[in-house]
Parts: sequence; C-alpha cells; structure tokens
Amino acid sequence: MRSVLLDIRGLKKYFTVQGGFLSGRRGMVKAVDGVDLQIFRGETLGLVGESGCGKTTLGRLIMGLEDPTDGKIFFEGKDILEYSGKNLKGYSRKVQLIFQDPYSSLNPRKSAGNIIGEPFIVHKLASGKEKEDEVARLMEVVGLSREQMGRYPHEFSGGQRQRIGIARAIALRPKLIIADEPVSALDVSIQAQILNLLRDLQRDFDLTYLFVSHDLSVVEHVSDRIAVMYLGKIVELAERKTFYGNPLHPYARVLLSAVPVPDPERKRERIILSGDVPSPTDPPAGCSFHPRCPRKMDICDEVEPKLIDRGGGHYVACHLKS
Ligand code: SF4
Repeated sequence: MRSVLLDIRGLKKYFTVQGGFLSGRRGMVKAVDGVDLQIFRGETLGLVGESGCGKTTLGRLIMGLEDPTDGKIFFEGKDILEYSGKNLKGYSRKVQLIFQDPYSSLNPRKSAGNIIGEPFIVHKLASGKEKEDEVARLMEVVGLSREQMGRYPHEFSGGQRQRIGIARAIALRPKLIIADEPVSALDVSIQAQILNLLRDLQRDFDLTYLFVSHDLSVVEHVSDRIAVMYLGKIVELAERKTFYGNPLHPYARVLLSAVPVPDPERKRERIILSGDVPSPTDPPAGCSFHPRCPRKMDICDEVEPKLIDRGGGHYVACHLKS
C-alpha cells in the first residue's frame, strides 16, 4: 500500500482580470479549476500540459505562494491551509522548488556559497563554520566543488547554475520538491546529467518529486505516474507505462503524437489539433477540450466529463468509452 504524502482535494484558483479599454469588464481566469490529486511518498509525478494550462499555478498553490479560491491541500495528513507562524515555516522547509531558469532564479550579487547557505540563515539552523561545511558538502553532492563556493552565478555554466539551485533546494532536507521545467532552459546534452542527478538525489535523500513540464519525452524519462492538465483541470492520470502505451484522453493522444519515437520501425501518426486554445476567461461549456477535439460527440458540448478510474488507477475525464 503506497503512502500518500500530498493530497489535493477540489483545489481552485481563480484570478480576476481587467477587461479591455473599451469593454472595461472584469473577467475571471480559472487557472486551477477543481483539481483532485494525490502524490505518493517516494514517487515522481510528471505534470504535463501546454503553457497556460495551470500547472505552474498548481505548483505555487502547493508551495503556499498563492492562496486557493477553494479546496484543500493535505501534507502528511495535515491541512496546510490552516497553518500559520511556526507551522507554516516548518512546512516551507519540507517543500522546496527548483526553478526553470537557473540564471534568473539566482541572485547575481551573491556567491554560490551564500546562495546555497541562505536557507540555513533564514531558518536559523546553522551559521559560521558549521554552515560553511554544510554548504561545501551540498556542493559536492550536486557535482560542484568546495573551491567554487566564492564564485558568482555568471561564472558558472547553465548546468552548473542549475546544480546550485538544486543544492539550495535540498539544503533543508525537504520531503517534496516541485521541479518546474527544471531542464527546459538547458542544452539537450546537459539535460540528461541534471535528470540523472535528480534521480540520484531522490534515492539518497528519500525525495518525492512533482515534475512539471511541457516535454513528454523528458517526463517519460523521470516519472512513475503522469498527470495531464488542460485549462485548469486534470484530464488524465496514469502509471507511466499505461499512459505511454495506451493514452485514453484525445488531448493526451495529441500531445503524445508529437513525441518522436526512438525506434525507426515504429511510426506514430502526428495528430494536428484544429481550433484555437479557448480563452481561459471564457472556457467552453461541457468538456473544455470539445472545440478542438477530433472525436467530439453531441454530449461533449453540454456535459462536463468527470475524472473516473477506468481500472488500475488509470483516470480519464472523457465521455468516450475507449
Ligand atoms: Fe473529446 Fe468529448 Fe472526450 Fe471531451 S469528452 S475529450 S470533447 S470526446
């Protein structure tokens, strides 16, 4: 029986946006719109979808960087939205973020040693020589050297900067790491090194990852399960093998059809989406994918499909039966 680390229930985040100069009307963007999701201890859950689908907002809600409009987030069985003061600080040690762009996320005026050591200062956990030794150890863990401690971000390569970001993220021994497109700003040759590092750290530090990405090839490489988001909702959730072998939601099939197959004998037919991405301020009624869906039926215009387990933990939100 797998143990649940994070349990998200009915989570919503709506943003109010000002309309155009002429209309002046205010609208509502439903960035996250009723998400139920569990993350198991020790797993990597890949969260995929096009930009603007709500995956980054979901990560920020879990981090406590945004207040939800509605819903609950339980971490180790406790409702984090009830936390304040000491409890909130304790939670922020257990959940850390790795950013997409390792350059803009590092303060250019601080040395690598100071960046990695910052969490110890903020949480008053170590200072002086003790902190320095801990920083040096972390640098070695992520493949950097103690001698590089005094260097500044611009003196490192993109891959090395991401290693600094990772060292900072694991400094306080978190339990959950939200990795938001952690390799998409890196050269392909460097991506594999960083992914291997993340895998090794998961094993050595007992980490759980929410791996947010638009890149299904990368997600396949690292994930145990995959969740697909479209316009603020999870539309498919399955074990990696099940998902890549038999995706059921038409949107997931479209995304997968664009992923190159390494075996030249096998061919995957590319499915081209018709229609535009609907405005998130005015999402379509019924199934929000219906204006672009190649398999749309009459019911899809009006009735929103629920996310249902089709067997073995393969969840799909679609009226199609197969
Ligand atoms: Fe397509 Fe209908 Fe399924 Fe939506 S519910 S994905 S429109 S078939």
